[in-house]
Amino acid sequence: TCFLQRLHKELHAHLNGSVSFSTIKKLVARKPHLNIEHGMTAIRSGQRRTLDECFQVFKVIHQLVDTEEDILMVAKDVIREFAADGVKYLELRSTPRKEKTTGMTKRRYVETVIEAIRQCKNEGVDIEVRFLVAVDRRNGAEVAMETVKLAEDFMLSTDGLVVGLDLSGDPTVGHGRDLLPALQKAKNCGLKLSLHLSEVPSQADESELLLNIPPDRIGHGTYLHPEVGGSQSLVDTVRKHNTPLELCLTSNVKGQTVSSYSQHHFLYWYQMGHPSVICTDDKGVFCTDLSQEYQLAASTFNLSQEDMWTLSQKAIDCTFAPDLKQQLHQKWLELRPTHF
Ligand code: 5GP
Repeated sequence: TCFLQRLHKELHAHLNGSVSFSTIKKLVARKPHLNIEHGMTAIRSGQRRTLDECFQVFKVIHQLVDTEEDILMVAKDVIREFAADGVKYLELRSTPRKEKTTGMTKRRYVETVIEAIRQCKNEGVDIEVRFLVAVDRRNGAEVAMETVKLAEDFMLSTDGLVVGLDLSGDPTVGHGRDLLPALQKAKNCGLKLSLHLSEVPSQADESELLLNIPPDRIGHGTYLHPEVGGSQSLVDTVRKHNTPLELCLTSNVKGQTVSSYSQHHFLYWYQMGHPSVICTDDKGVFCTDLSQEYQLAASTFNLSQEDMWTLSQKAIDCTFAPDLKQQLHQKWLELRPTHF
């Protein structure tokens, strides 16, 4: 494997955004009546969409993935694809969905993802996978609280496979203050929190509130710093708690929350030495993979192989699986090139 494929940990990957073209083809074959083409489920090279249009894409994929069989296939394919790209540790996240027409329940949804993780392990796929249950902010406080209870149940019953809670969904809908009780409950019961924060410019108030929980990691954090309309006090809070950021270059450029790769906030945080982890977000929708994201970071910001090695190694301390940290560090030392 090439250098880039030896250093991976993926900490920010939404299951239904990570569905590859080949899996989409299998899903389309199962549901020809939907008349869905690949152009409707992916944003190709050079294309840009508004964030709103990106969320429409997820709706199309959700139509294709609405049974337990679909979830099992999608999750296993996604795990194998990350492994094939050299990812040794993967944290997947997904929003439990109930589908009246197929009888799928939220509990079965999560059980099926767990089953996919176990099957991959039994089949010898060389990757460790952990799961974060996702709260879609659009669904409001009550659903958020139910989701936290579900996540807590699974955390207690899956031998450490369910490690945390994600907050995602359309950032222009709802306000984090309504979700605060659910998020605090999650934190108190031992779930790790990864929150999408300041993905769009208007969220400074919300970020201030949620950063004080504090979360264990931040998704995107695009508009936290003062140069883009955030504030020094937000940055100071992130620094005080040393909260790592999950940064997704292609996703932000294609979704137009960042104007170009060179303008990506990776540079701001990286130069400060703040823990930042390169991630894919939605490798299927944004047509990327983790090797490509590392390559883009390297070429855009002039990082050496050694810089990238260090970046990838530091990501180990940002994972939500403390039981695996020592093992992952050991593996990284073994794979480390003797000369860069
Ligand atoms: P799923 O949770 O169904 O496995 O993955 C798709 C969902 O992840 C979307 O419906 C959305 O809630 C969330 N998601 C994926 N990418 C993004 C993103 O870039 N920003 C936010 N806020 N949510 C996202």
